[in-house]
Amino acid sequence: MSTYAQDFMAELKAKNPGEPEFHQAVQEVVDSLVPVFEKSPHYRKNKILERICIPERTIMFRVPWLDDKGEIQINRGYRIEMNSAIGPYKGGLRFHPTVYLGILKFLAFEQVFKNSLTTLPMGGGKGGSDFDPHGKSDMEVMKFCQSFMTELCRHIGQFTDVPAGDIGVGGREIGYMFGQYKRVRNEFVGVLTGKGIKWGGSLIRPEATGYGCVYFAQEMLATRGETLKGKTCIVSGSGNVAQYTVEKINQLGGKVVTLSDSDGHIYDEAGIDAEKLAFVMDLKNSRRGRISEYATKFKSAQYIPYDASKGFNSIWDHKAQCAFPSATQNEINLKDANNLLKNGVYVVAEGSNMPTVPEGVTLFVEKKILYSPGKASNAGGVATSGLEMSQNSLRMSWSRDEVDKHLQTIMKNIHKSCVDAAATYGKPGDYVAGANIAGFLKVADAMLDQGLV
Ligand code: NDP
Repeated sequence: MSTYAQDFMAELKAKNPGEPEFHQAVQEVVDSLVPVFEKSPHYRKNKILERICIPERTIMFRVPWLDDKGEIQINRGYRIEMNSAIGPYKGGLRFHPTVYLGILKFLAFEQVFKNSLTTLPMGGGKGGSDFDPHGKSDMEVMKFCQSFMTELCRHIGQFTDVPAGDIGVGGREIGYMFGQYKRVRNEFVGVLTGKGIKWGGSLIRPEATGYGCVYFAQEMLATRGETLKGKTCIVSGSGNVAQYTVEKINQLGGKVVTLSDSDGHIYDEAGIDAEKLAFVMDLKNSRRGRISEYATKFKSAQYIPYDASKGFNSIWDHKAQCAFPSATQNEINLKDANNLLKNGVYVVAEGSNMPTVPEGVTLFVEKKILYSPGKASNAGGVATSGLEMSQNSLRMSWSRDEVDKHLQTIMKNIHKSCVDAAATYGKPGDYVAGANIAGFLKVADAMLDQGLV
């Protein structure tokens, strides 16, 4: 690492204490950008890095609500408006007990580069709350969402900041929040994406992150003249991203043998086919149950509870060729990364954001496997949110086929941008460097054009 990068990181850590996920996300980008700063010193002179790591605005607020017993509950709400150089802030809302400023800053930071890669005019933002939807009644979720939006609605808008879903925020939560926005602001506009199909949502938006990630894996495999057909795949998580990753892998002739939640994973050697996936969708999206129920229902599967004391997650210790982490950040530690390689995995397409620890990323890059960072391979979700915004502005809705074609083209273009940028800066085949450099250049140039703001 150059002295500039080292000094920069030391100052960032001192100014943002206690936010390890944010430090980790910035470190990865800074490492990738060293050749850019060497080649183009004007970025350094104009302090682009110093500016891009400070949110344009950070909003924090109290979210009081009444539970079903009539007791007062209080959560913390956040929105990080990170960068608007190339468009209105855009990025999801996460409801999970682990949410705090550091997680949202890492996600908002990643979002800036990801949105830039999509080629659509979207800046970066992220928000959410430490509210945990697990075990809450629909009424409690609605009351929370209404209280959350009552405050958030004064900061967002169709031309300023357009949130979407993320962990713990799906169609139900977007519906409750959209309803409250409309009620308070008295306007029916595309202020959120991931909306219901009957009230402004886009076809393919629910599928987009998972489908896009699989399209990206397909592009990576194509560089070696291969396809997903006949490949065994490990998928983690069992939420939105995981479900549609499984669906698309199945359509392309691959076989998925795992799914998980925070309690453990299921291994089904026979493969999670369309019928089994329909069971998972009902289990997770309607009944809101645990993945262990899969093994009770399907005898071909076994359930393996997560055991933190082992120091690794056994979901990554199965024979396969491809892995699609689709749960959460840092879900693949160094031991897990080694297990994946040992078991024959040579394609890792990240659906979740920053699922691999830095040592694991270095290992994958060194071993020259087909490894794509989340900000490239999971960008199909936000790209399709961008398409939802376009349809809302046009007051039109496109067919499923049209949106899917756009999504495929966007994923192809993101893949090409990564490959080209990596090659230009002397790191051929390194998708991490490629994504960070290509994502950075567009935003940095826009910031230069717009003066010191
Ligand atoms: P969901 O809430 O639909 O599903 C999340 C899944 O991950 C659940 O199975 C959940 O299990 C599991 N999970 C969450 N937190 C943890 C944890 N700390 N440890 C273990 N398992 C965990 O979220 P999404 O599918 O939408 O998001 C998954 C990932 O994809 C996230 O990293 C998100 O940022 C990223 N992403 C999502 C996009 C989208 O469009 N939705 C777009 C781009 C990225 P449990 O129920 O037990 O918590």
